[in-house]
Amino acid sequence: MEKISVIVSCYNEEEALPLFYEEIIKVAKEMNKKVDFEFLFVNDGSKDKTLEILRSLAKKDKRVRYISFSRNFGKEAAMYAGLENSTGDYVTLMDADLQDPPALLPEMFDLIKNDGYDSVGTRRVTRKGEPPIRSFFARCFYKIINKMSKVEMVDGARDYRLMTRQVVDSIISLKEYNRYSKGLFSFVGFETKWLEYENVERVAGETKWSFWKLFKYAIEGIVAFTTAPLTLAALLGLIMCAISFLAIIFVFVRALIFGDPVSGWPSTICIILFVGGVQLLCMGIMGEYLAKNYLETKRRPIYIVKETEKDNYNKK
Ligand code: UDP
Ligand code: MG
Repeated sequence: MEKISVIVSCYNEEEALPLFYEEIIKVAKEMNKKVDFEFLFVNDGSKDKTLEILRSLAKKDKRVRYISFSRNFGKEAAMYAGLENSTGDYVTLMDADLQDPPALLPEMFDLIKNDGYDSVGTRRVTRKGEPPIRSFFARCFYKIINKMSKVEMVDGARDYRLMTRQVVDSIISLKEYNRYSKGLFSFVGFETKWLEYENVERVAGETKWSFWKLFKYAIEGIVAFTTAPLTLAALLGLIMCAISFLAIIFVFVRALIFGDPVSGWPSTICIILFVGGVQLLCMGIMGEYLAKNYLETKRRPIYIVKETEKDNYNKK
């Protein structure tokens, strides 16, 4: 029988995990005639009892596997580790907080099985329960990145999706260090069906994303998927050159006709400040790409494993 791997990244999810497990085994039971399951939990350096819970789940349920990182590597790393270590013919990525309703899984599976899609993604059509200012910036981000990048980013798309092995293998083959999954999923292509649903608030625990973290994540997405800011910097330089050329002619002619070399201190200062600002901005943009290049060439591993369910068997 074919198998679905359910990958769940967990960071301090001791409160949500038992609830999640209960939900997912219900769905697994409902689908047990059609398909087998493997639950692969990735413990992303949690500081609470997440690992203990995973150990005991793995002991009582043979379908449960886990990978525990040596520290917090971030959700992108956790998802990558899950994909790389999954063994199923189909793979789904889920959050532990039940914001990705496992109940959608049968429908997603049918779409792939019967309608020939390679991957089924989910997007939330509302952002209920989110601070309005956050929703506003999220919308702006999607507008900007879709203007700049050739790869399409779907507004409201979640990481929750079901994929065939073929899609998973192509995602794994992208070994980059700065991972921006939303982009990687569109980058690999394939036929994707989008399911829409209303936003669900997390069942327990709290969100790990501060506004600042989200902002940095947005910059990461832009740098990873488009070099348009570099072109913008070059364009800005070109415009500045053209303006300064006109300004030089103007100043020159004025000095020839009126011959007043002394006045003009305020305008000089304004120009110096403005040009200085533009130069710093452009250098900053270049630096952002250079930094990513630097991180990428170091070729550090994306994650480091400290323990898996196999170590746990050996111990006892
Ligand atoms: N997560 C993770 N590593 C991190 C942060 C989050 O593995 O460094 C996991 C977290 O446990 C959860 C999922 O990623 O299962 C989504 O996180 P969260 O619910 O905090 O984000 P939100 O749903 O608020 O965007
Ligand atoms: Mg969540």
